[in-house]
Amino acid sequence: MSTANSPAVAGKVLRSVELEEAGRPSREEAERAVRTLLRWAGDDPSRDGLLDTPARVVRAYEEFFKGYDEDPIEILQRTFEETEGYDEMVILRGIRFESFCEHHVAPIIGRAWVAYVPSGRVVGISKLARVVDAYAKRLQIQEKMTSQIANTINDVLRPQGVAVVLKATHHCMTTRGVHKPDTDMVTSRMLGCFRDNPMSRQEFLTMVD
Ligand SMILES: [Zn+2]
Repeated sequence: MSTANSPAVAGKVLRSVELEEAGRPSREEAERAVRTLLRWAGDDPSRDGLLDTPARVVRAYEEFFKGYDEDPIEILQRTFEETEGYDEMVILRGIRFESFCEHHVAPIIGRAWVAYVPSGRVVGISKLARVVDAYAKRLQIQEKMTSQIANTINDVLRPQGVAVVLKATHHCMTTRGVHKPDTDMVTSRMLGCFRDNPMSRQEFLTMVD
């Protein structure tokens, strides 16, 4: 996880203790922290079944949070201009994502609908899915993730408009806290023609339902 993407570092002056913490800890330190949490849960990290757990959890973290090592702007850099003047909506529907809430480190499992109306150039559709993943694989809140995806596509592709809808289940409220399973949260961000033109917005929302 690069410090440049660390929310703890962005936009504030760090005290020396925080500076120390901002550096990436070693794998051993991370595994030790997992052992502490296992003990906190009430178990014995030295029993057989838990011996390799700290190493496994740390490897899982590498996968869960690999988005910090990805640059969404770079993902969208390669575009195609031979589109024969295609200027209608491009929409990628129901992109499954897995993220973690930044308040409880509990899973956020959901789907994303991402649309844009190109102006001159298009991007490979798999790149839209990769941008969703690059932001999902971080500690997140759904509102911020929705904005980040839409803003990045808008900034890099400079299209006529961008629309993003996320629908997700938050395990911090389904499996703990208020315990409300079967609830999902829907967030959206509309830019350009999707914000200004009710017809474009409606066309997109019809595709989402
Ligand atoms: Zn939470």
